Amino acid sequence: MRMSALLAPTLREQPAEAESDSHRLMLRAGLIRKVSAGIYTYMPLAFRVIRKISEIVRQEMDRAGAQELQLPIVQPAELWLATGRWQEYGPEMFRLRDRHGREFCLGPTHEEIITALVKAEVRSYRQLPLMLYQIQNKYRDEIRPRFGVIRGREFIMKDLYSFDRDEAGLEISYQKMHEAYVRAFRRCGLQTRAVEADPGAIGGDVTHEFMVLSPIGEAQVVYCRRCDYAANVERAPVAPPPHAAGSEKPVPPAERVATPAVRTIDELTAFLGVAAERVLKTLIYLVDGQPVAVVVRGDHRLNEVKLGRLFGTSRIEAAPPELIERRTGAPAGYVGPVGLEGMEVVADPWAMAVADAVTGANAADAHLIHVVPGRDFRPTRVADVRVAEPGDACPRCGGTLETSAGIEVGQIFKLHTKYSEALGATFLDEDGKEKPVVMGCYGIGITRTMAAVIEQHHDERGIIWPVTVAPYHAIVVAVNSRDAGQAQAAERIYRELAERGVEVLLDDRDERPGVKFNDADLMGFPYRITVGSRLAASGEVEARRRRDGQDVPVGVDGAAALVE
Ligand code: ATP
Ligand code: MG
Ligand code: MG
Ligand code: MG
Repeated sequence: MRMSALLAPTLREQPAEAESDSHRLMLRAGLIRKVSAGIYTYMPLAFRVIRKISEIVRQEMDRAGAQELQLPIVQPAELWLATGRWQEYGPEMFRLRDRHGREFCLGPTHEEIITALVKAEVRSYRQLPLMLYQIQNKYRDEIRPRFGVIRGREFIMKDLYSFDRDEAGLEISYQKMHEAYVRAFRRCGLQTRAVEADPGAIGGDVTHEFMVLSPIGEAQVVYCRRCDYAANVERAPVAPPPHAAGSEKPVPPAERVATPAVRTIDELTAFLGVAAERVLKTLIYLVDGQPVAVVVRGDHRLNEVKLGRLFGTSRIEAAPPELIERRTGAPAGYVGPVGLEGMEVVADPWAMAVADAVTGANAADAHLIHVVPGRDFRPTRVADVRVAEPGDACPRCGGTLETSAGIEVGQIFKLHTKYSEALGATFLDEDGKEKPVVMGCYGIGITRTMAAVIEQHHDERGIIWPVTVAPYHAIVVAVNSRDAGQAQAAERIYRELAERGVEVLLDDRDERPGVKFNDADLMGFPYRITVGSRLAASGEVEARRRRDGQDVPVGVDGAAALVE
């Protein structure tokens, strides 16, 4: 490919709308262009990367024994009504009607469709196990599309579904996928961590997310440096509260007491009788305009993430002081307990459990004291209430936990029979009994992975593609394309590389060398072969590796071999 013909318009300026390094670099290097919020055109360079990542993922899925197919994007409402997810999915689902008024959605995921297929086509245990997957656009009307293609509303996902006779079969499929994911991400040059996670709206119980640790990640991960324990904080274990664990004094039973007129965090601390540094604050948030009380410990952002999950939204703001004042009678700027008169708490079971367990914040006039999580309540939505923090003990080895934000690039779930039972996908087992198929589902965000690779591989000059996913392996640059000797040598190296199967670009533009070098660095090709003044002097050209900037002088004849 010749640079003069390539559609990859670079931007010299920093794009104002860019919210992360990968977003900025993808815009600047001419990889993506925005069409609407969270909806992008993938330009030729990005599309080559997407094909590379897809191919790696495809090879790993095939190696695990899976078969690729293509399911429809437009899905009828009936299937989603049958599993209850037509309502459950909420505003994230793009819904549409056909000319007859029938309802459809644009697939945000494909459990319903594929389970219906297996119900129709799989009759006997002889047809199992089965693994089916596709690589296709998904549609989610994300409330806050962000960071370019990292959180898009239209994005490409690989989604695979496994069908087994029993739990033992599911365990094998799950492990196969776990290994396939580790291999696929490693081949893409991505460092990921598999973390235990909360199954959320998909259902099931066992699930792992593959996280790229990154400050722009919207998930929070705790991990242990000593062993391989890692969890999404949604799933992080609770350590017993300090006044319960290892204390000589017996823990008194939980007690409901009338709410005194608490107006400051100090008064709350005194009231709850806990050490100041362990105090649980109660904040008031607005979730889609509704005030909600949340008991928090530590990081506000985490609570916003949690609340967002609970309410299927990310439109969460701290309530304005006037509202807090009006609703609670507390002075402006106040952060303290609620359960004060007039406070409305949205009756979510998780929020209620948290609130009730800790301060009785759901009651207008009472709080609970001496609560021991696990003893006095059992939250319904997450493994526990308490958010793990750096310094907590690792539940596996007792080491020290650390925390980081993470970008979720993939997730694997054990679904068991949730969908097969809802849709009646059964098979006739060897013992002559009709049984529901046992399922798992496994997703990888292809376009998000592309951005995550850039988050992990860039410098101030641009992208540094790992060879495996690079749009082109090498670019050949003649420093002065008007110099016939240089132009000819560049052309020859370019042809030779192409013949050897190297994916190569020739920068044949009549531009200053600085412009060509900057573009090559920005676009991040692993190798740049520079044909310059050295050619006339010594018959040599320069091969430079983008990763470490190392220059190797080589003869024109040796250039191709070096890159190969
Ligand atoms: P998130 O927690 O970031 O919203 P999710 O848990 O809703 O993601 P899954 O349903 O597990 O996503 O989908 C599988 C994969 O698809 C995710 O691990 C992620 O890589 C990708 N993905 C999900 N939502 C988006 C999106 N809005 N834009 C781009 N990729 C996405
Ligand atoms: Mg999501
Ligand atoms: Mg998630
Ligand atoms: Mg997920």
